[in-house]
Amino acid sequence: MHKVLVTGGAGFLGSHLCDALIARGADVLCVDNFFTGTKDNVAHLRERPRFELLRHDVTFPLYVEVDRIFNLACPASPIHYQRDPVQTTKTSVHGAINMLGLAKRTRARILQASTSEVYGDPEVHPQPEAYWGRVNPIGPRSCYDEGKRCAETLFFDYHRQHRLEIKVVRIFNTYGPRMHVDDGRVVSNFIVQALRGADLTIYGDGRQTRSFCYVDDLVDALLRMMDTGPDFTGPVNVGNPGEFSMLELAELVLKLVGGKSRLKHLPAPEDDPRQRKPDIALAQAKLGWAPKVALADGLKETIAYFRRALAA
Ligand code: NAD
Ligand code: UDP
Ligand code: UDP
Repeated sequence: MHKVLVTGGAGFLGSHLCDALIARGADVLCVDNFFTGTKDNVAHLRERPRFELLRHDVTFPLYVEVDRIFNLACPASPIHYQRDPVQTTKTSVHGAINMLGLAKRTRARILQASTSEVYGDPEVHPQPEAYWGRVNPIGPRSCYDEGKRCAETLFFDYHRQHRLEIKVVRIFNTYGPRMHVDDGRVVSNFIVQALRGADLTIYGDGRQTRSFCYVDDLVDALLRMMDTGPDFTGPVNVGNPGEFSMLELAELVLKLVGGKSRLKHLPAPEDDPRQRKPDIALAQAKLGWAPKVALADGLKETIAYFRRALAA
């Protein structure tokens, strides 16, 4: 079986990925500096003999023996990645260099968790992989967007220069259990606000759109991508093409949670993309993958999780 390194493995997506890898019988080394992730997210795996947890910051070199690497380390929520923007760029860029150096030495196959943010505020809709994006290089989101773009560049240069087996996945907005209560992203914010009976905070007019993928679908796609033949590098979009405005999302959350919350409009954040929706034709063709979980069903699972988390 494979020896698999998951960086950012104690985070939201990383912890679900560790679960799926352990269920497949892999040896899993979870590396995390706990910037946004928590030991609680992987506490249930601690007793599993094939699971190991290491506190480490990927901006520093890491010498371990593995044959597969999922590089997920990086804060993903705007409030978190903007808290220490220099560290965010370092995590994406120095982190990618170190993990690529590790992959080069061990000849491991390496997958990068890239993002739909590489498309910025897009003027092509929906976004196919061939679209180069429209990213502000000097704004408050740039530490994340440009860091992730530079990481993609490094992956492709290591592939061309050192013949590394790389896999680049552009992840669109993903939600589900184990998102942090204070994560700050829209799905967790709306659910936590609705459960607490607080008003739902709509940034701007609420007509901006996003496409929301449930975490189980996303993890399935990451595993399929890692198992593709050495010639397929991506980048490949992974996300749920269902497109919703923030007003529609708020209404759906209110319907599912119940209660008396209303909507409260706050100013739109700078450089907030107006619309986002993945073109997933490539993922369908190359991974035989399409999302299965409808938004209302995924929200029900996520609401149940936050109900428990807030009661604890
Ligand atoms: P998250 O914040 O829950 O997870 C990120 C993890 O990385 C955390 O456990 C954090 O502690 C860890 N980390 C951060 N900096 C680190 C460092 N320097 N060294 C070691 N560990 C570090 O976010 P997530 O939603 O699980 O995102 C995981 C990955 O997927 C990120 O790379 C993110 O950019 C990408 N992604 C997520 C989404 C989404 O909607 N969830 C969308 C696009 C891309
Ligand atoms: N690196 C690492 N683990 C390894 C091998 C390399 O963290 O097992 C780091 C190393 O510190 C270096 C980076 O990865 O800074 C890039 O390595 P590479 O071999 O590509 O570059 P070089 O060492 O030649 O600068
Ligand atoms: N948003 C919102 N209310 C919130 C949090 C976010 O209206 O409480 C909006 C935000 O302005 C953006 C969308 O929801 O247009 C998605 O934001 P999120 O931070 O979840 O992800 P990203 O902008 O990175 O896609």
